[in-house]
Amino acid sequence: MEPEYKRVLLKLSGEALAGDKGFGINNEVVNEIAVAIKKVQEIGVEVAVVVGGGNFWRGRTSEGMDRTTADYIGMLATVMNAMALQDALENIDVETRVQTAIEMKEIAEPYIRRKAVRHLEKERVVIFGSGTGNPYFSTDTAAALRAAEMEAEIILLAKKVDGVYDKDPVLHADAKKFNELSYIEVLQKELKVMDSTATSLCMDNSIPIKVFELTTENILKAVYGENIGTIVH
Ligand code: UDP
Repeated sequence: MEPEYKRVLLKLSGEALAGDKGFGINNEVVNEIAVAIKKVQEIGVEVAVVVGGGNFWRGRTSEGMDRTTADYIGMLATVMNAMALQDALENIDVETRVQTAIEMKEIAEPYIRRKAVRHLEKERVVIFGSGTGNPYFSTDTAAALRAAEMEAEIILLAKKVDGVYDKDPVLHADAKKFNELSYIEVLQKELKVMDSTATSLCMDNSIPIKVFELTTENILKAVYGENIGTIVH
């Protein structure tokens, strides 16, 4: 069986990296994700990763602080996650590069599109840190932006839930899971897949989003184009 895609963008939320701990980085989880990424690479698929930062900090929920400052703290949080993932990947002999939208060249490369593409072509995993580099945006929007720039064929949105529901499945036993959705439906129904900025960017650039529960098996299934989770297109 051949993989469905040549180049994918994997979006990992900060929450996913925290695992059951709910805060900070759970090494076991990060190591598992690294193994999954390695497997995807081994079947010849190029992988770019955008990491979130919600396991450390979220700008929009830090009350009383200047929003811009709070957002910059959030962006710094994503860099910690990027470095942890880089370390886990390099430990299992996967070549990686971290590129940050805010320059911090002692610890990572600055974001340079052409260089990032070249890394992917050379089978290096490129991890994008510090989101878009701008306050008032999210790492979901960074994922949409980098996917467009890298010409990734799909965004793999690995989450704690196994797809998109009409209401919160944790709170409502009768919540219904969608198999597929259009971007407009996501926007109109205000479904919590991505924020509206990210969804619009994907819509305008025809980038499909596959939402599924984060497991090694699922990442592979998604890459083979299997019918898991919810596809937004
Ligand atoms: N952030 C930002 N601009 C960006 C990306 C992120 O200001 O382009 C900040 C924002 O404060 C956000 C935080 O970084 O709350 C962490 O990112 P996000 O909430 O997207 O992480 P996730 O929910 O995926 O863990």
